Amino acid sequence: MAKINENYLKLPQNYLFTEIARRVKKFQLENPDAQIIRLGIGDVTQPLPKVCIDAMAEAVQEMGKIETFRGYGPEQGYLFLREKIAEWNYKKRGINISADEIFISDGSKCDCGNIQEIFSLDSKIAIFDPVYPVYLDSNVMAGRTGNLQSDGKFENVVYLPCTEENNFNPAPPSEKVDLIYICSPNNPTGTVLDKKSLKNWVDYAKENNAVIFFDAAYSAYITEENLPRSIYEIEGAKEVAIEFRSFSKTAGFTGTRCGYVVIPENLCATTSSSEKILLKNLWLRRQSTKFNGTSYIVQRGAAAIYSDEGQAQVKILADYYLENAKIIRDGLNAAGLKNFGGENSPYIWLKTPKNFSSWEYFDELLNKFNIVGTPGAGFGTCGENFLRLTAFGRREDVLKAVDRLIVG
Ligand SMILES: *Cc1c(COP(=O)(O)O)cnc(C)c1O
Repeated sequence: MAKINENYLKLPQNYLFTEIARRVKKFQLENPDAQIIRLGIGDVTQPLPKVCIDAMAEAVQEMGKIETFRGYGPEQGYLFLREKIAEWNYKKRGINISADEIFISDGSKCDCGNIQEIFSLDSKIAIFDPVYPVYLDSNVMAGRTGNLQSDGKFENVVYLPCTEENNFNPAPPSEKVDLIYICSPNNPTGTVLDKKSLKNWVDYAKENNAVIFFDAAYSAYITEENLPRSIYEIEGAKEVAIEFRSFSKTAGFTGTRCGYVVIPENLCATTSSSEKILLKNLWLRRQSTKFNGTSYIVQRGAAAIYSDEGQAQVKILADYYLENAKIIRDGLNAAGLKNFGGENSPYIWLKTPKNFSSWEYFDELLNKFNIVGTPGAGFGTCGENFLRLTAFGRREDVLKAVDRLIVG
């Protein structure tokens, strides 16, 4: 009989979203008239920008003519898209990243999950707690961790607690790690790391020969001028960091699929005999073996956001969700509910009142207000006593939800 990769069995049942669905369904059956509002979803609701639709429609037509038909694209992604990204997301912000350092993908989840493959299995990883579960789970599957312990943590992982006390901004660990996952703006806490904090991480990585994986999926939601959108705004980051970006939350591409990784030209890690290897080459090798590119049509759609008109249209999207976030925050404040994030992020991190656990408060919100959030404990042990609310809903639902909270 064939044997399985037993590392998969170390993962607990992914019961967060199924458990939410189960409780919501049960409530709805018992209360058929209740109008449930979902503020738990991590998915966008607004349609794609017009520039993207037009560009994709044109690309579809090109695919229908022999002169302009395209088959497999370049392994790293089309140059027209990589050049636009380099110019608009980096050069225009004074950052020196070239098209050669950009690798187009069909979204950032696979990139964040796959990147660990090009590193040694005995690498020590550090993750923020709470955080996007992909970073940890992909390392568990690869066998880079031990077993899940009774305290809810995996052996051989350095967890960096994000708490109210440290403003959800943990300091680098005292011990040495090899790979560090940073998500800023953070999903789920909504916290954005400032330049000084990121500089600490870059310094730590240099001192410890570590590599930082910087997930900037929500950079489009940063409105404050001085907050870094990219880790490469920090001096020296090109020597230690890989950056992940996505069109999902920026341009509504969650169902359309496009993202990219930036691996700086000279970024290296070593073999066990201390030979330096360029990570960019390893990643290209990995991608060209296991991935056949993002569709031409989608890459055309993504490239369309890089014009004055395209930028104006994606800004309208981000502003819409940020206004939702403001309405939610103001509502929570008026209802006397302590909350964090939501200012440079579509996520609001709600502290449960009266020391309710995440799940107890989930039930309370559902039963009393017919509002669905996401229990913070689902993102890591330090998410206990919090609930994540998202601003990705429709305006009318957000207003209704807030009304219910304030009326009490
Ligand atoms: C949504 C999200 C992504 C992007 O995922 P896609 O696969 O590009 O849709 C990446 N990182 C985090 C933290 C996210 O929340």
